Amino acid sequence: MNKPLILVVEDDTSVKNLITTTLKAHGYRYLTAVNGETAILEASSHNPDIVLLDLGLPDTDGVSVIGKIRTWSNMPIIVISARSEDTDKIEALDAGADDYLTKPFSVEELLARLRVTQRRLLIMKDESVAEASTFINGDLRIDYAAGCAYLGSEELHLTPIEYKLLCLLSRNIGKVLTHTFITQNIWGSSWENDVASLRVFMATLRKKIEKGENSPQYIQTHIGVGYRMVKAE
Ligand code: CA
Repeated sequence: MNKPLILVVEDDTSVKNLITTTLKAHGYRYLTAVNGETAILEASSHNPDIVLLDLGLPDTDGVSVIGKIRTWSNMPIIVISARSEDTDKIEALDAGADDYLTKPFSVEELLARLRVTQRRLLIMKDESVAEASTFINGDLRIDYAAGCAYLGSEELHLTPIEYKLLCLLSRNIGKVLTHTFITQNIWGSSWENDVASLRVFMATLRKKIEKGENSPQYIQTHIGVGYRMVKAE
């Protein structure tokens, strides 16, 4: 298999060097771009496997770069944002980014995000999985056609909203889904009330599928951002 090609879009030289050194040391190939214009050019001409995109670029904002890339490609995009850019991060996820890293981040965090995204890529590339009527993740199994979910051999007794939530998360396994994205998919709107209800439904869903409340196996919480279903170990 070819080494994955990563496009690194970052204007801060020290962050860019940290990323490229890490990539090189861990068997990735990479390309770099220091502004949005070059990023779009490199993305379209080299079709990288994953884009690491800084949101604060000198010529344009990262969110518009995502919008442009999404007009022709679903390539995974992991955004890199400063802590002060929390709303930008959410905007970026809603514009189609797959995941995010917050500065300052560690080398381990960067590698972990890349691994999650690569796993997601593999699942997406396997069409038999994408088209399957059954979803399996660890002990969790969803029979989409029958509209039933199981944990081990036990059928789960889910409310219609809990079931919809579980399906939405499973169909986007590996991807961080924002509160807005989820509430729009479940209720068709995104009022503050919906986000509050989402928390309640998520809590009841988790009680039914997670063994330990403090060590969730299937659903991660991203505080202030949203939720992600992860592949169970
Ligand atoms: Ca920057």
